Amino acid sequence: MSSPLDLPLSKAGIAGLQAAVASKLAKKGVHTVRDLLEYVPRDYIDLSKTKRIVDLKIGEQATVLGKIHKVDGRYLRGRKHMLSVKIGDGTGYIEVVFWNQPFRAKNYATGMEVAVAGRFERRAGRFQVSGNPFIEAIRGDDEGVHTGRRIPIHPATEGVTTMMIRRYVHSALGKYGRLIEEPLPPALVKRLKLMPRSDAIAEMHFPTASDSSSRAKRRLAFEELFVLEAGLAVRKHRFEREVRGLSHPGGADLVERFLRSLPFRPTAAQRRAIEEIASDMAEPRPMHRLLQGEVGSGKTVVAVAAALVAAGSGSQTAFMAPTEVLAEQHFLTVRRLLEPLAGAAPAEDGRLFGEGFGVELLTSAVTGKARQRTLEEAAGGRATMLIGTHALIQEGVEFKRLGLAVVDEQHRFGVHQRIALRAKGSDDAEPDLLIMTATPIPRTLAMTLYGDLDVGVLDEMPSGRIKVRTHVLGPAERDQAYERIREEAVAGRQAFIVCPLVSDSETLEAKAATTEYERIAKDVFPDLRVGLIHGRLRSAQKERVMQALRDGEIDVLVATTVIEVGVDIPNASIMVVEDADRFGLSQLHQLRGRIGRGEHPSTCFLLTSLDQADTEQRRAARERLAAMAATTDGFVLAEKDLEIRGEGQLFGRGAVTAEDGTGAPAQAGQSDLRFASPLVRNVELLAAARREAFALVEDDPRLTDPAHGLLREEVRRRFGERLDWLFAG
Ligand code: ADP
Ligand code: MG
Repeated sequence: MSSPLDLPLSKAGIAGLQAAVASKLAKKGVHTVRDLLEYVPRDYIDLSKTKRIVDLKIGEQATVLGKIHKVDGRYLRGRKHMLSVKIGDGTGYIEVVFWNQPFRAKNYATGMEVAVAGRFERRAGRFQVSGNPFIEAIRGDDEGVHTGRRIPIHPATEGVTTMMIRRYVHSALGKYGRLIEEPLPPALVKRLKLMPRSDAIAEMHFPTASDSSSRAKRRLAFEELFVLEAGLAVRKHRFEREVRGLSHPGGADLVERFLRSLPFRPTAAQRRAIEEIASDMAEPRPMHRLLQGEVGSGKTVVAVAAALVAAGSGSQTAFMAPTEVLAEQHFLTVRRLLEPLAGAAPAEDGRLFGEGFGVELLTSAVTGKARQRTLEEAAGGRATMLIGTHALIQEGVEFKRLGLAVVDEQHRFGVHQRIALRAKGSDDAEPDLLIMTATPIPRTLAMTLYGDLDVGVLDEMPSGRIKVRTHVLGPAERDQAYERIREEAVAGRQAFIVCPLVSDSETLEAKAATTEYERIAKDVFPDLRVGLIHGRLRSAQKERVMQALRDGEIDVLVATTVIEVGVDIPNASIMVVEDADRFGLSQLHQLRGRIGRGEHPSTCFLLTSLDQADTEQRRAARERLAAMAATTDGFVLAEKDLEIRGEGQLFGRGAVTAEDGTGAPAQAGQSDLRFASPLVRNVELLAAARREAFALVEDDPRLTDPAHGLLREEVRRRFGERLDWLFAG
């Protein structure tokens, strides 16, 4: 099981790589020999095709070898820092200039042999390298590690230069390269004529042919996606064929009466989704379904219908929402929706439910006697539906017969919370699972992230909705937005002012919102009724504010992102987002989804003081705002987001940590993928890997064939924790 490849780097006997260096590499996620071997170069420079300085042409992209003659770093007027490195090769001199990167100076010293790659320009009579130049230290005495070929440029980190990493990798390849195993089944490698893994790793670092690094990376990307999809396939297979579930054939009449009692006509998409769910639930195997639907598409109605299918078949439903505000709102909504059905006997058998529908709420705010009573209702089977935050998955919460688990706004939860909720079912049967999300998932990601779920889409909005108009405004134009708020308030509408994201700290955010509230209430709208909500308020206070908002007693609500998900106030028609450039695209889309939920035309103002797009970060921010103004289509925005940001972590580890669940968005972290990132550029590879992996698992559902032993091992190593790998041991 344990291979020398799993040795920590400090114990791997690699020259120069001691504990101090190892701990620095660890920050890049490189801990073991294996990690080092799989550390992907970000670029290459071709030292076999260098040019003499005298032969350089202006505007040319080339590599030059030379020696550093002078390093000069200083601050200019206006406090800009300029670092100039002068390099000569005997035929002439070039100068590389770095702006505002004083820390680079320590990497260069007079006399050092370097390779310089970039675009060469003539400026003020001197040859300069512009664009994104790089200088690489090289040494002639290194037996070709650094010279005479294409050399890898690995992402460096504080205190570990690319040259150091290159040497470590070279040495690790020599020492451990032979031990690299092939996780792909031999038959597959043969049929698809894939480069063996050990060759691919070596070629990725030190390519021997001009196209071999890209072929190697492609092969490794395929493998990575194959491994991931194999894990998903095993999990799907297990859910579908090996786990006993409950069959829920009843409830059809209840659902029909419910739909007819609604104050509106259900959309065709809602009816279709309900039918799909009911037919899944009728089966004895557990349902494992994702319902995607744009914000405002009416997912709650579908969830309630599913709960009625369960109730009509004698099962209870747990309905988990990510925030207290949302759980409370669902609780009130569901009660209201079910009122017309009161008195209907939900279950044919009289063992559960007594009279009518018991709908209960469980959050951290429900304490003492009330909590005790709620728990008893659930355990005794009298609660038809238990709605709550992740208080639902805590110990002590028991059901008599949990048949359906609904998870709302899935993006706020991690896979572990999903699993914990399902575990509230009885020992011998898993409840059906319905996951709902308003975060549109691009097709690419749906195949990975939710690769083991059946996916349904609510692709139709209730009629009569008018698209929200979105404007990007500079700080000088803020008054225009306020003007509109006033007009809308006079017309009886309501508005949200969303405060800037101060940091991930809720306390700071609460403070910022409070300051903004005071300003708005006193200086801007002294004549309007202004309210405040943020995550630091006590539950009861939050409830009061939301109730006042619902009752029309607040004209303008100053809020943090606690209102990001699910909040449903059809009368709200205007939203101002301060410092909108600091929010992510999906978050802005979610926020904007709080308006335009009724029949009133709605407007969203995105305020930004970013007027320039001079850095990568600012450019991305401007792009996000432009995309928001251009479309309200969540799928278009999701694709755009993926394009701007990369896929990040594929498997949310659950952003909800605080019990009040006001959680800041999940940290956009490093990608879970090493070779196949960015995923958007590897869609075809993903589809192919998925096809192959699912076919393999069809024949060997638990990967117990000895030919699949290494594959199984690799699935566990790479994605085991994320997939909650179910055949551990
Ligand atoms: P989401 O999909 O964002 O969770 P909700 O379930 O909160 O959406 O529904 C949004 C609003 O639309 C609610 O006020 C709900 O009552 C209303 N609604 C749901 N279905 C319909 C429909 N078919 N026609 C009109 N309004 C509807
Ligand atoms: Mg919702």
